[in-house]
Amino acid sequence: MVENKVVVITGASSGIGQATANRLAQAGAKVVLSARREERLKETVEQITAMGGLASYCSTDVTSMEDVQALADFAVRTYGTIDVWVNNAGLMPLSFLNKRKVDEWDRMIDVNIKGVLYGIAAAVAIMEQKKGGHIINVSSVAGHRVGMAGAVYSGTKFAVRAITEGLRMELSPTSNIRATIISPGMVETELLTTITDEDALNALKSRATAQALQSQDIAEAIFYAINQPERASVNEILIRPTTQP
Ligand code: NDP
Repeated sequence: MVENKVVVITGASSGIGQATANRLAQAGAKVVLSARREERLKETVEQITAMGGLASYCSTDVTSMEDVQALADFAVRTYGTIDVWVNNAGLMPLSFLNKRKVDEWDRMIDVNIKGVLYGIAAAVAIMEQKKGGHIINVSSVAGHRVGMAGAVYSGTKFAVRAITEGLRMELSPTSNIRATIISPGMVETELLTTITDEDALNALKSRATAQALQSQDIAEAIFYAINQPERASVNEILIRPTTQP
């Protein structure tokens, strides 16, 4: 059940992370929102609180293990434990490899892969102690197949799926920790604003579907995974817009 669970969400200042915080708080979870844009987090926390929900925020850059550990410490200080950790923060500066956008490759690897590993490191220490918990990692349809100009982004999302599967196999039998991969197709968020390569943006727009998913659709999938009985570990949810091939 979601009710009363302490849930930490990275990348909660917009899009899927923000919608997930709202959805879970509405279901009675105690949510800890994190991202770098503090003002946005504060606004969402105020909205949740005004609706009678329980929420706090902690400014975090997931590329820093120190920051991520501080986020875990904050959650434990505020709500006593961590039951669920959602590694959602990510960026998608798609580009063709021959553009040599090395800085963007580095950022994607730092946020999309290392950020997830740091979240796992911080959360699993707490969950192993209490022999229970749930790690949810946001991958993508791009973690299943590679799109044009998406070599590095897809590489990071394939990695998220591999890491989550490894985590599940290592931890579930002894520590009772559930691990879930969420793989969305196209969702209408601010993610496209991270693309600086015009050709990549055009390639993406040319295959864009008429009706993208909304962040709430993914929040609902995350709610479902958490809300199952503890004996059921939802390993992956793959959700595309109906019109996305
Ligand atoms: P948004 O751009 O709306 O959200 C991205 C979030 O990541 C923001 O809250 C941003 O917060 C946070 N973030 C980025 N860099 C960092 C960092 N260094 N430290 C902490 N937080 C960071 O996009 P989405 O909601 O779409 O993206 C959420 C996840 O969903 C991503 O992992 C993305 O890859 C995945 N996804 C999205 C799809 C889509 O079509 N939209 C499809 C499939 C997967 P801030 O800038 O304040 O730090």
